[in-house]
Amino acid sequence: MYKLDEIRNQFPMLNNKTMQGQPLVFLDNASTTFKPYSVIKAIEEYYSDYTANHHRGDYDLCYKVDMKVQEVRRKIANFINSEVNEVVFTSGDTEALNLIAYGYALSNLKKDDVILLSLEEHASNTLPWYRICELTGARVEFVDLEDKKITVNKVKEAFNKYQNIKIVSFAHVGNVLGYEIDAKSIAKVAHEHNAIFVLDGAQSVPHIKTDFKDLDVDFITFSAHKMCGPTGIGALIGKYELLQKMSLFKTGGGMNVKFNKNMEVIPLDAPNKFEAGTLNIAGIIGFGAAIDFINSIGIDNIHNYELELADYALSKLEKCKDIVIYNKDSKSGIIAFNRVGVFAQDEATLLNSKGIAVRSGQHCAKMIDEVIDTVATVRASFYLYTSKKEIDVFVDNLINGGDILDAYFK
Ligand code: PMP
Repeated sequence: MYKLDEIRNQFPMLNNKTMQGQPLVFLDNASTTFKPYSVIKAIEEYYSDYTANHHRGDYDLCYKVDMKVQEVRRKIANFINSEVNEVVFTSGDTEALNLIAYGYALSNLKKDDVILLSLEEHASNTLPWYRICELTGARVEFVDLEDKKITVNKVKEAFNKYQNIKIVSFAHVGNVLGYEIDAKSIAKVAHEHNAIFVLDGAQSVPHIKTDFKDLDVDFITFSAHKMCGPTGIGALIGKYELLQKMSLFKTGGGMNVKFNKNMEVIPLDAPNKFEAGTLNIAGIIGFGAAIDFINSIGIDNIHNYELELADYALSKLEKCKDIVIYNKDSKSGIIAFNRVGVFAQDEATLLNSKGIAVRSGQHCAKMIDEVIDTVATVRASFYLYTSKKEIDVFVDNLINGGDILDAYFK
């Protein structure tokens, strides 16, 4: 039994908030998520009760912080099924992808090497690779899609078509259409061709069981703020031998054993060699509390509940006149749609006036218009605390909005 009321009671943002004078209905969870009291409290406790830096200080408070940081690293490793020393703290998914680009790709790619992406990728899984191409002379190619989806067959075809694919990097679940890829099979194909496979887990890790060892991908990236955690913290999970071989990215305090006046630097081992400077300690502690919170519900329960919500919403939306849905067959809590003849941003603005938060535009996946043949979509995205009642309010307002827009345009 999914205890929705109990879950919702744990979120201050679900407690009588309004927008435009209407009860807030937040359906932009693919962008970021609300935080439960336990996460807020964990952060507050760090600031109120045991503030100190990490990095092996000689006094108790610092030791406590070190232990907390290490405990969260362990929690993340258990959650994603990696080794503890395969977890690198980053400021989020974007920084994690940049770390792979600059730490791995910059020193391993050369002219005419190929990075394989898709037209559905988020800017954060595209632009770091473009930059690496500028710096190395490598180039990006795009996998062909099958009915808007990345399939294993199309990835195999890409390997036959392009020589020298060295890196394949796809979102595990797309942030516009919500399609999940067969990451395990794609990793196998990439490895058969001596390429590495990067999995952008921003939209999967918060929603579906994502098992690093079982998928056998080389890297996974994700952000805490999309899974009930704080902003400004995320993780890169990487196979240890690759992390060890990677070049340094950020350098400074906390990542080195020693350095001397001859400019010789001995870095720490991974993961610490990537963690220069004072970490976002409060963020890390909040991240740990977010993982505890998700574990207390169960990631499979969360996913099943989101599928139930998506089915419920789709069955209602299909009855709305003039609504085009672009991803009916997606097994996720993301629905991308438009009203025929109405610009996505106008639709979102109308919903805003009713207290409903949805996202419109290209959602940072700025090549998506080549896939779905529209310049912009409205995106409603659900999470573990979304209620069917909120979906009712959303759909009812869409229907009423249709009448308002009809009246306006006629
Ligand atoms: N990749 C995907 C698929 C995303 O959805 C997002 C966030 N919208 C990102 C990368 C970037 O995440 P962040 O802004 O948290 O770094």
